[in-house]
Amino acid sequence: MGKKKLTNLERHIVICPHCGGKALDHMTECPACKGALKPLGYHGEMDPRIRKRIRMTLWIVFGIIAAAVAIFAFLK
Ligand SMILES: [Zn+2]
Repeated sequence: MGKKKLTNLERHIVICPHCGGKALDHMTECPACKGALKPLGYHGEMDPRIRKRIRMTLWIVFGIIAAAVAIFAFLK
């Protein structure tokens, strides 16, 4: 039981590239040396290809909605 809990916590521990100390994966700076860390759970930097695909999908959805509204208005 306790072992499983420890493993779950260890999954969120990252080794600081500056001092080799332990930090948690959501941290943006090392608590030991204040060095900058790249948080794993942070998705601010999205893959540009995925971002382009999402934008394309949004435009397609927007186009379908616009077409549906136009057809609905025409039928009325
Ligand atoms: Zn550090």
